[in-house]
Amino acid sequence: MAKLYYKYGNGKSADLCETAYNYEEANAYLNDKDKRHVLVINAYDDKEIMSKYMAGDNKNPILTRKVDIKLSSINSLFDEVYLRMLNGIKIAAILVDNSQYLSVQHAEDLFFIVNLLDIPVIAYGDRTLRGDVYSAGAMRLMELSNTIEEIDEEYLKKRKKAKGAKLEFYYGAMNSSKTAKLLYKADELEKAGFNVFLMKPFSDRDPSMITSRIGMQAKADLVINNNTKLYGEGEYLLRNHINYILVDEAQFLTERQIDELRQIVRDYDIPVRCYGLKVDFLSNHFTGSGRLLETADSLVKLRTICPCGEGAIFNARINSNGEYQKSGSQVVIDNGGNYISICPKCFIENVMDEKVPKIYRKVR
Ligand SMILES: [Zn+2]
Repeated sequence: MAKLYYKYGNGKSADLCETAYNYEEANAYLNDKDKRHVLVINAYDDKEIMSKYMAGDNKNPILTRKVDIKLSSINSLFDEVYLRMLNGIKIAAILVDNSQYLSVQHAEDLFFIVNLLDIPVIAYGDRTLRGDVYSAGAMRLMELSNTIEEIDEEYLKKRKKAKGAKLEFYYGAMNSSKTAKLLYKADELEKAGFNVFLMKPFSDRDPSMITSRIGMQAKADLVINNNTKLYGEGEYLLRNHINYILVDEAQFLTERQIDELRQIVRDYDIPVRCYGLKVDFLSNHFTGSGRLLETADSLVKLRTICPCGEGAIFNARINSNGEYQKSGSQVVIDNGGNYISICPKCFIENVMDEKVPKIYRKVR
């Protein structure tokens, strides 16, 4: 199955130009009718993509790549690509630059292109607009993507080493053993001599305990409700020589609380690792996970499997008859049988079926 990648970090345009070149080089010995084309899009202004290549000796020429689809001159991105396919054009991949400027509709079109037409898409972009401002297109892509990754790792590693502590988000669908991994990590850190501080949002079922599905347990040092001021804990953390913070179910924190965790990392140099769900049963982010996707220093995906065998990234909600739910409130606590972790293809079939582009349903 093709995958949807969201790539952020330094050197995006250079990476795009090189990737396009590599795909095209693979065509060198093929007849015209067998050539597999790369389609490049610049979501900012439809103009040619240009990059000063930063790596190495800095003497490399500027990399450029013409665009193949101009968003300002088409109606539906899905229809545009699908019609090209129906006309016999083979498409190897779609590469998008400045993806933070995409509309939600275009982002969803890319998701359907990957999962219905089996074309890989690499969307390059920032996770927010300039100045940390929410980008609806970037968020929709991060919600729907198989993988979110940094490019230019070497540069970032160097920067992070200098910076010290960081805010990390370990995200996954249900059944990706998030809480068990948190408890293992706490144990490992404590054995290595760290003073670990455990936080979790309040929940009726299990007010102060952090409990994994396989029965591991630990008491939370702080139970968070919507009014808890996390930055205010800073003095306490210092007095008690806390040097690592782990947060369970971080998707339920408020945006302000995530920002306060970033401040704790920055001002007190204490690493914070958050564990949580990326999206709800309709594929939309929670308040805490959304802010973490935008601002965490690193994002780490925890894997789990769909019943069909593909990697699961969504959590579908089912009722007692096993029927998929397409509406309802965002938070309904799992009673052990009302959620199922599924892959994009199964999610489209069972939950997002009404959003499948009309042209695709008609032709099929
Ligand atoms: Zn599946």
